[in-house]
Amino acid sequence: MDETQDEPPLDPPLGCADPLLWRVARSLYEAHRPRTDNFCECRSFWPCPDAQLAEEALQLAYGRPSPRTSRPGLGRTSNLGRWSA
Ligand SMILES: [Zn+2]
Repeated sequence: MDETQDEPPLDPPLGCADPLLWRVARSLYEAHRPRTDNFCECRSFWPCPDAQLAEEALQLAYGRPSPRTSRPGLGRTSNLGRWSA
């Protein structure tokens, strides 16, 4: 059984639109994992807002439009890339 199959890779995948954003989002993803007791690693209820943000940011970084995300402000990758140097 390979439970890591579904996980985003640590390094930006080939064709990733925004590798920098990917790394930021990936470390956020790493810090917010579901535990067996229905809580996140940060001890909020799962899924916590940060975990959802990480998920969206990963999709965004990869350049894959996510249909369920229609929040204005998250739709542009240009500004997000400047969060980290
Ligand atoms: Zn969390």
